[in-house]
Amino acid sequence: MMNISKYITFITFLLLLTPAAAKKVLIDPGHGGEDCGAKAKIWKNKKLSILCEKDIALDLAKKIKKHIETHSQHNAYLTRLIDKSVTLQKRSELADTIKADIFISIHLNAATDSSSQGFETFYLDNHDNAAIKKIEDVENTGSTIEKAIINQILASLVVERVAPSSKELGNYVHNEITKNIKKRFKMRDRGLKPGLFYVLALSKRPSILLEAAFLTNSREAKLAKNNRFQDIYAQSVAKGVIEYLDKSKDPALF
Ligand SMILES: [Zn+2]
Repeated sequence: MMNISKYITFITFLLLLTPAAAKKVLIDPGHGGEDCGAKAKIWKNKKLSILCEKDIALDLAKKIKKHIETHSQHNAYLTRLIDKSVTLQKRSELADTIKADIFISIHLNAATDSSSQGFETFYLDNHDNAAIKKIEDVENTGSTIEKAIINQILASLVVERVAPSSKELGNYVHNEITKNIKKRFKMRDRGLKPGLFYVLALSKRPSILLEAAFLTNSREAKLAKNNRFQDIYAQSVAKGVIEYLDKSKDPALF
């Protein structure tokens, strides 16, 4: 016979052993197929090769999925597994189909000024003016955005409802990226910012869009292709995602 206190200890122990409910993470490698996204020119042995954002985004997305599934009970899915074009609508519809809990879109940045550098994280928000401008950005190409749809998104109660949790998710992920990437790879932290991206708004769940590095900056283009950078970046994103899903600040993982 167990006495009451031993019994409570035993039940607590069992509860600790019971895994929390598995959540679904939908990871969206930006662009694909004919849409190369941002381009980097890489010279090696006097030969020029073009590096496409779509390929790096797919590499990163696969690695993030692997890290999430290795280090947690949660499941991760990709909006595309190969190099093919998927419309922004299809990507967000998939979030509904699989009943994803969160949505993460992976991108690499581009700028006309080749000295632009660093990593940044956008969370879905329909309040800020800067966020509204973002709807006209390059990451929205491929969508048939008309004024009416934009206004619908801006007024959407769903977007309104998921904005705070998108910011919280962004916070966890951006903090991990900053902690592991900034010093190690001497990269600039461009911050966590509100953004209104079509693909995020349509996903209708807490969502963020990551710009891992600038492909138009030659140093960062080389980094983006580098396996070690990709691994550490993906591991940081996965860690932030797991922290958000489990709502614990410092899980004993990795
Ligand atoms: Zn992109």
